[in-house]
Amino acid sequence: MNQSTAETKMQFLYALRSNGVTNRQVLSAMESVDRTLFVRGVFADRSHEDIPLPIDCGQTISQPSIVGLMTQALHVEPRHKVLEIGTGTGYQAAILSKLARRVYTIDRHHRLVHEARKILTKINLDNITAIHGDGSLGLPEQAPFDRIIVTAAAEDPPSPLLDQLRVGGIMVLPVGRSSTVQDLIQVHKTDEGLKYNELLSVRFVPLLEGIDEGR
Ligand code: SAH
Repeated sequence: MNQSTAETKMQFLYALRSNGVTNRQVLSAMESVDRTLFVRGVFADRSHEDIPLPIDCGQTISQPSIVGLMTQALHVEPRHKVLEIGTGTGYQAAILSKLARRVYTIDRHHRLVHEARKILTKINLDNITAIHGDGSLGLPEQAPFDRIIVTAAAEDPPSPLLDQLRVGGIMVLPVGRSSTVQDLIQVHKTDEGLKYNELLSVRFVPLLEGIDEGR
């Protein structure tokens, strides 16, 4: 690794830590997945900055510290089966795959799923299955999930996802009526019902119904 690569990496990890990503497993998962691979074109040069960036299909790759905080709030363990809604570039799925046994990720854009599969295969992350579909319906054939993460904002947690979360499981997602400010929440499913924690204010693209057929 040359000097500037090492320095860029240190700055990336420093930005994560100073924004509250302190869990060692999460930091080392994020250190091991190069975000540059997931960002294309003119923005690739800025892939190590702690900022969201535009991707294909008018979508966004999240700010790394938000990826870290969401991953940290999920408390993923090595035996877990995780569902992600909103594959986008596949970056968040790649981080999860370092921490979990198996990751299923769904996006409504065929093109994003196709591109994400290519990158994930190239870097040998073979415990991820990327699926083209409407993630608000979840993935009933693989339920229940130990953990569910949604990387697009809905007004309320979609009920199929709550149904597909195992008792004892955790779901992390942005919710809100406005497209400008949403709350990131953590939902614990317990024997006594659902418990909600508000984590921070965030801004995500909306969770839309149905799939996009465009290739
Ligand atoms: N996690 C991604 C970023 C997600 S951006 C990454 O790491 O790069 C949000 C994504 O949610 C977009 O790609 C969008 O297409 C997807 N999305 C929105 N509504 C959806 C739905 N109902 N089902 C599946 N994906 C959806």
